[in-house]
Amino acid sequence: MKAAVVTPGKKDSIRVVDIERPACSDDGVLVRVKRVGIDGTDEDINKGAYGVPPEGSDFLVIGHEAVGIVESMGRAVKCLAPGETVVSTVRRPCWERCYPCRNQHSDACLTGDYLERGIKGLHGYMSEYYVETLDNIIRIPPGLKNTAVLLEPLSVAEKGLEQVFKIQERLPWDPKHALIMGAGSLGLLATFILKDIGVDTCTIATRDKKSLKARIVEGCGGLYVNVREEPLKTLPKKYGPFDVVIEATGVGSLAMDARDVVNRDGIVCLLGVYPGEDMRNICTDCLNLDMVLNNKLVFGSVNSNRIHFEHGTERMLSIERKWPGLLQKLFTRTVTLDNVASGLHREPEDIKVIVEISK
Ligand code: BGC
Ligand code: ZN
Repeated sequence: MKAAVVTPGKKDSIRVVDIERPACSDDGVLVRVKRVGIDGTDEDINKGAYGVPPEGSDFLVIGHEAVGIVESMGRAVKCLAPGETVVSTVRRPCWERCYPCRNQHSDACLTGDYLERGIKGLHGYMSEYYVETLDNIIRIPPGLKNTAVLLEPLSVAEKGLEQVFKIQERLPWDPKHALIMGAGSLGLLATFILKDIGVDTCTIATRDKKSLKARIVEGCGGLYVNVREEPLKTLPKKYGPFDVVIEATGVGSLAMDARDVVNRDGIVCLLGVYPGEDMRNICTDCLNLDMVLNNKLVFGSVNSNRIHFEHGTERMLSIERKWPGLLQKLFTRTVTLDNVASGLHREPEDIKVIVEISK
């Protein structure tokens, strides 16, 4: 079968190769892949900056945002039928000495020895078929067949926001306004979730007000601001105060600005991955003073586990009911598996690029 693979550590090594179709064990489910989403992690892997091949392999099948159809199942799998639409989770536990991993929270793995399909130590989903066990498979309701490829990134935002509300039980807290930094797929999905919860949102990026990103934000009743026209520092007075800030750009310096613009008692959730900027120039005394005097909290959130995917399907149904067709607008470009290399090179108007593996 065809698969998109890279040589981790090597720049632009993406290629399509023929590999053996995985065998289905008794407790396995064979999934025929339909569509796979590309994100910044995949781009970083193809830049040679990230990614680990499975033990004994010199290549890695990429892809961790995939929707597929159950083709067949092992004998021990009873509660799934061929033809069902499914999405699989990404991270697998390390088990060794790790309390979170042993308790279905590999997203909070303590050892760092977790595995991630398509990213770290396990082949991913960008191939014609893959095999997975039932406990890592999420069943997709019929209403989400066309958008379920967004479930994985949505689950990451869902987890970040779940953490926000859990953490904020530290205070009497009734959030009214949220600031979302970045209008890539993660920022847009976080905007939808917050609007669905009933929090007012202000989503910022550098596109003009007529851009697709702006129109998508407005599609769910959110406010879009082009920070080239209205600088970040002016926004809290005009549209805030922001009780919660979601950082989804992955630009390190913006993560620090987020702390500046969050309200007293507020919380900043960092979802973007920062490629190692030099932090020594940050005024650590200002940081200390601002955070202490104002009860501020900045935290990071990575990955998502099964429960966030389950909640994510409910969330997507709710988004679809409230704003029909809005999720679909994130799909800006579709490429074939043979053209995956072009999908991994970002074009200016890309939001979510999809690799179509089978119809
Ligand atoms: C994936 C997460 C993963 C993270 C770090 C993200 O792109 O969505 O599931 O944990 O990368 O590898
Ligand atoms: Zn662990």
